[in-house]
Amino acid sequence: KSDAVPMANLEPDTVLPYKKLNENLECIRDRLDHPLTLSEKILYSHLEDPYEQEIERGKSYLLLRPDRVSMQDATAQMAMMQFISSGLNKVAVPSTIHCDHLIEAQTSGELDLQRAIENNKEVYDFLQSSSAMYGLGFWKPGSGIIHQILLENYAFPGLLMIGTDSHIPNAGGLGGVCVGVGGADAVDVMAGMPWELKCPNIIGVHLTGKISGWTSPKDVILKVAEILTVKGGTGAIIEYHGEGCESISCTGMATICNMGAEIGATTSVFPFNERMVKYLCATGRGAIAEEAEKYEEMLIPDEGCKYDKVIKIDLDKLEPLVNGPYTPDLAHPISKLGENSEKNGYPMNIKVALIGSCTNSSYEDLGRCASIAQDAIDHGLTTQVPFNVTPGSEQIRATIERDGILDVLQKFGGTVLANACGPCIGQWDRKDVKKGEKNTIVTSYNRNFTGRNDANPATHCFVTSPEMVTALAIVGCLSFNPLKDELTDSKGKKFKLKEPKADELPSDGFDPGQDTYTAPPKGKRSKVTVNPKSKRLQLLQPFEKWDGKDLTDLTVLIKVKGKCTTDHISAAGPWLKYRGHLDNISNNMFIGAVNAENNEMNKVKNQRSNDWGTVPDVARDYKANKIKWVAVGEENYGEGSSREHAALEPRHLGGVAIIVKSFARIHETNLKKQGLLALTFSNASDYDKIQPNSKLSLLNLAKLTPGEPVECEIKTGGNSEKIKLNHSFNAEQIEWFKAGSALNRMKETLSK
Ligand code: SF4
Repeated sequence: KSDAVPMANLEPDTVLPYKKLNENLECIRDRLDHPLTLSEKILYSHLEDPYEQEIERGKSYLLLRPDRVSMQDATAQMAMMQFISSGLNKVAVPSTIHCDHLIEAQTSGELDLQRAIENNKEVYDFLQSSSAMYGLGFWKPGSGIIHQILLENYAFPGLLMIGTDSHIPNAGGLGGVCVGVGGADAVDVMAGMPWELKCPNIIGVHLTGKISGWTSPKDVILKVAEILTVKGGTGAIIEYHGEGCESISCTGMATICNMGAEIGATTSVFPFNERMVKYLCATGRGAIAEEAEKYEEMLIPDEGCKYDKVIKIDLDKLEPLVNGPYTPDLAHPISKLGENSEKNGYPMNIKVALIGSCTNSSYEDLGRCASIAQDAIDHGLTTQVPFNVTPGSEQIRATIERDGILDVLQKFGGTVLANACGPCIGQWDRKDVKKGEKNTIVTSYNRNFTGRNDANPATHCFVTSPEMVTALAIVGCLSFNPLKDELTDSKGKKFKLKEPKADELPSDGFDPGQDTYTAPPKGKRSKVTVNPKSKRLQLLQPFEKWDGKDLTDLTVLIKVKGKCTTDHISAAGPWLKYRGHLDNISNNMFIGAVNAENNEMNKVKNQRSNDWGTVPDVARDYKANKIKWVAVGEENYGEGSSREHAALEPRHLGGVAIIVKSFARIHETNLKKQGLLALTFSNASDYDKIQPNSKLSLLNLAKLTPGEPVECEIKTGGNSEKIKLNHSFNAEQIEWFKAGSALNRMKETLSK
């Protein structure tokens, strides 16, 4: 009986929802009467009201009931602060918190972990006690990276999950629709409210042929990123299909889905297949696999279903790619990497090579890297550069240790870091280059924005497969092509590296390693307290309600020029420690964004005093003097991560609207949730009409209506001009603005 199978072994009281989902889907089929994509099946079967919900791709807003919520420690702090301020006493759906982002890589895994436990004690205690208080599962520091743990324990075909991290789509490798959201969305679902998502378009990626040789699953997504670019997936789910899927392991499919975040996709998903069955069985979830097989029809796309766009990739012809620097869609086939790098003046010598992270740390990935490392060792060679290995979870670390993989990587010269994000999120005490020194690093991570790994804007980061990182580390230069070039062994003999090879899953099963999970207690729960003097945690005060008047004579705090990711708006690295303290973290607001007025970072003119100051200081001065302000930006503003601090900080420091050429999806929702007006120029060139000393008025806000533009008057010197600004607020989101935030609105609704 499917009712008897829990969603996760760690949650025996839950049930796999297939029966109910199937009933919902039957109703949807009757209504829509056309073949459905897999994404549609999963989304629509999770509708709050499958009978009445309006469904139109790219247009209607879907009210959905996700199966679970997951949060990482950096975003969970603020999400839990918001949950606490909702006044509820227990989460309504299974939810987990994962401690992975706050562990800084300095020396080695064990020492770094111990230091992090001491340094972050207050935050970990808060997360653990609030998990116990409100009924969430808690994964301790050292347990691993959220996405790896979700894949190992919680993901299943047909799952609808939201989580406060942009790489939640990783679980699409196990056939779920899993979406990165801001903390406020997570709070809604944990509070038992439906989750709202604009009905996405579906982009199909048709895979033919077979992955083989040096080509790896990472190359599929590096290719898709090249084709679609960093904006190409906006508003869409990327749905992989075709016989090529069968040649990719479950963890490989997860890698591909993980990095769909880099092209702005809502999420990515693969259809249920044998590779998923294998992975579910290997991770102790054979019962789920059996149920999924019974409901297979619900977990694969219908024949003849329609995609909004289809990309075709022949895996037989796919060459390994190395993407970067500074953007994940700049692809170089390995045969052209050297030539392109010379031409573009990228530093040819590699300073550091890094493998692992949530993107590429499966048993198969690390095993394939070890096969390359062993080949090098057999020829008397080792890595030429520091080679850092980040296992994705304690289970992976313990298993690769038991099976000798870790030993090979260490003999090759590798340093094993903690099971955590580390250098991927700027938690890297890097000492080998000075700030500002031009250098190259190669990683198997997913993201390579300026300064992402080491806060050095001159670091050229290239993302590629872990196999390619390992091969390049043997030579330490971007000009090496392991498919063609020969190496010289320690005896002076020429040889070519063998193609990487490894088992997909451990033949002796996984070793769980140390116990790093705490289930919520069943009995009495103790209260969560936050020290009012804490520098790291601060209870939230509700934002003020809108006063019903137009927002007039708004000052421009900053007109941002060029790329403005959430890292530019709210930097990570050393700032991660303030993620639970809104006022303290606001001191990083916009410090990485380039001011169009002077092309400098973190330097803006205070329009009240005419002095130049840092962006947070000037914003604080405006706030103290009751001057409301806006920020102006260009395309795909807020791309990158789900961090809602990039929306909370402007709101906290007195911002009322963000006006840009276009938004990235999660950030746009985050702004709306925090009560800010997220507006886009109807005419992109109107960006040029706004000067540093302009005053902006947003008019007729009492009549703010879905689909109707907002009138904006720009006054500069003695001149005045009116322009139109678009928005994507629906009726309920307009209520968020009026209430001052979505959280205020939720409290209003719950109290009724
Ligand atoms: Fe951690 Fe990097 Fe993965 Fe984000 S992308 S979860 S920072 S490893």
